Parts: sequence; structure tokens; C-alpha cells
Amino acid sequence: MICPKCGYQNSDDAGQCSHCNYKFQFGHNFNDPGHMMFISPGQSKKSKIAVMVFFSVMIVLLLLMIVSWLKSI
Ligand SMILES: [Zn+2]
Repeated sequence: MICPKCGYQNSDDAGQCSHCNYKFQFGHNFNDPGHMMFISPGQSKKSKIAVMVFFSVMIVLLLLMIVSWLKSI
């Protein structure tokens, strides 16, 4: 854990800087939400694309069914 205030290298589980006593408010939790936020938009984008592809395939299939039904009449 490098102190963001003075740059002093503390141990990774240090709660505060042993050089300037700056409290590491975020600690390890700072990386996890950022990591989650980095992943989740991509996943939601992918799922949105998947939903769009699914619906477009369904519409095409529906159109093909309607066309074949009209031809059979
Ligand atoms: Zn410090």
C-alpha cells in the first residue's frame, strides 16, 4: 500500500500511513468496486446485444412463418 499523500510504501494491510498517518479510507475495497464497475457495463452491453439479436432473430422467424403461411393460402 503506497500512501497517496506522501508516497511512503506501507505494508499492504496497513490502515494508515506510518509516515504521515494518512488514513487509507478506501483500502482494498477501492479496487473491488472499481473492478466491478469496469466489468458490469461491458456485461450489460453484451446482454443488451444478446437480447437485440434474440429479438431480431425472432422477428425474422415470425416474418418467415407469416410469408410461408401466406404462400400456403
Ligand atoms: Zn503517508
